[in-house]
Amino acid sequence: MAYIMRNMRALLLKQPRTPLVLEEIPKPTPKEGELLVKVHACGVCRTDLHVKEGDLAAPKLPLILGHEIVGTVDEVGPQVKGFKKGDRVGIPWLGSTCGTCTPCLENHENLCEHAKFTGYQIQGGFAEYTTCKADYAIHLTSALSDEHLAPLLCAGIIGYRAYRKAAPKKTLGLYGFGAAAHLLTQLAIHEGKQVYAFTRAGDAKGQAFAMKLGAVWAGDSSTPSPVLLDAAILFAPVGELVPLALKSLKKGGRCVCGGIHMSDIPSFPYSDLWGEKEIASVANLTRQDANEFFSLMTQFPLHTEITVYPLEKANDALEDLKSGKFQGAAVISIS
Ligand SMILES: [Zn+2]
Ligand SMILES: [Zn+2]
Repeated sequence: MAYIMRNMRALLLKQPRTPLVLEEIPKPTPKEGELLVKVHACGVCRTDLHVKEGDLAAPKLPLILGHEIVGTVDEVGPQVKGFKKGDRVGIPWLGSTCGTCTPCLENHENLCEHAKFTGYQIQGGFAEYTTCKADYAIHLTSALSDEHLAPLLCAGIIGYRAYRKAAPKKTLGLYGFGAAAHLLTQLAIHEGKQVYAFTRAGDAKGQAFAMKLGAVWAGDSSTPSPVLLDAAILFAPVGELVPLALKSLKKGGRCVCGGIHMSDIPSFPYSDLWGEKEIASVANLTRQDANEFFSLMTQFPLHTEITVYPLEKANDALEDLKSGKFQGAAVISIS
C-alpha cells in the first residue's frame, strides 16, 4: 500500500522579532479554486525581513513566510481551470483580491481594499508544500532553473512596476542595489537606458557588481549623481535617501519608492521638489504586471545572481540580507 505523506516541513514565524522555527506540520489540502503546490525554490525578499521584524502590522501567526515561490502543481482543487498536476507554476505576493471594490473595478487590483498577500496573510513558500488561489498563480515556461527563477516573482515583477512608474527617458538612478535593482539594471539596459547605481557607503563589492551588470556609474548613495537623472527608484528602505534622490533629479523627474516599508523621510527644502518633480510609491503588483514582465524577460538573456540556502538556513538568509552579505538575491532551495 502506498505510503501517503501527510506532513511537511515548514519554517514558522511564531512571533515577530523571533527566529523562524522548523517544524513538521500537516500538509495543506487545496480548497475550491486552489492548487496544492510542491515548492522547489522560494526567494527571500526584503518584505519577509520586514514581516519577521514586526515592521508590518498583523501578519497571520504562526506564519510561513516567502512569496517568490517556484514549484509544481501537486494537486488541483475543485473548480480549478487552466492547471493540471505537474504544471510548473510561480506564486507571487498578490494572493487574492475581492474583484468588487473600486480599485479592483478600476484596474488597480494591487490597491484592492481586501487583498491578501502570500507569506503575510496567506501561508507562503518556506515549506515543502503550499496552497494558492489558481487565478493568482503564474504559468512558468522559462528555461531558467527554479532557484534562478524565484527572485523574479517579486524583485522582478514589483521592480518592473516601479520601473514603468519611473518611466526614465534615458538616465535612471537605482538606490539600494539588491535583488530588484540587479534585475532592473539588465531590463533598463536592454531598453537603451543608462543606469546609475547608488549603494551603501563604501560597498565596493556592490558597486563593482553594478558595473559588471552594465551600470555606467556606481557610487555611495550619499554622493550626488554625476549627471542629473530622469528618474530614481529607491529600493533601500531608507527615508533619508528621498531628499538626496530629489536633488539628483532633472526638472520633471520622478522619484519612485519601491519598498513596502521605509524609515521616515526627513524634511527638505521645497526648492528640491519644485520644477514639477514627483515622489511616488509602488504598492504590490497586478496580474497584468506579472504577465508583462514574464513575457518581456524572455526577450533578452536575464542573469539572476543568487545565493542558495537550504530550508533550515532561512534565518541565516534573512540575516545576510539585512547585513548586505551577498550580491543579488537569496533563494531557499527545497528538495
Ligand atoms: Zn478589491
Ligand atoms: Zn517581495
